[in-house]
Amino acid sequence: MSSADTPTVFLDLDDTICEHPRSTADRLADAFDAAGVEPFFGVSDFRRWLARVTADSAVELREKCFTGIADEQGRESADALAVARAYEDPDPTEVRFLPGAEAALDALGADHDLALVTNGDRETQRAKLAALDIADRFAAATFAGSTGVVKPDPDPFHRTLSALDCSADEAVHVGNSLRSDVAGAQAAGVEAVWLARVEEDADHVPEYRIDSMHDLHAPPWA
Ligand SMILES: [Mg+2]
Repeated sequence: MSSADTPTVFLDLDDTICEHPRSTADRLADAFDAAGVEPFFGVSDFRRWLARVTADSAVELREKCFTGIADEQGRESADALAVARAYEDPDPTEVRFLPGAEAALDALGADHDLALVTNGDRETQRAKLAALDIADRFAAATFAGSTGVVKPDPDPFHRTLSALDCSADEAVHVGNSLRSDVAGAQAAGVEAVWLARVEEDADHVPEYRIDSMHDLHAPPWA
């Protein structure tokens, strides 16, 4: 970044600023249980398929992912559909801050413009922002899930830059996913800070790495 002192800070929302108390793995286990199906795949398979498919609803998205996984394993799609329909969507109003995230927004927001770049849909993500009472922290917000063009496509980053009349070298993006946040930001020419809570098997190399949101109180790019 050229103006390294006070870049505009883009942030991912899910698993960067906030998380659900009940994990995706827990909800998937519940869904297998409720559907009466012996678990035949895990969260990593689900995430791998989420990156490949698009759909008009969360249920349809899960149906496509789970039947895709079943097909890979030579299984009937009926079990996959039963699990997809039994899976309960998390309540967006029940999110909580990741450790250090609220204080990081306070510290960064004091001398940086902040923007949100999230893959979720507008309605769900706005409910989370309202529950956390942080909607007014962001000078711009891009809800990529509402347009169908999601990170790692550079489009959500380009749209956020243009909303703020900001150039790529005046911004830095913070997110928890190497595949969507780091790769997407870099594809738009924006440097990336990877929040490395869970090791990820991906080749993308972030410009900066932090282990918790507490680390943002003294920004790594400063
Ligand atoms: Mg995330």
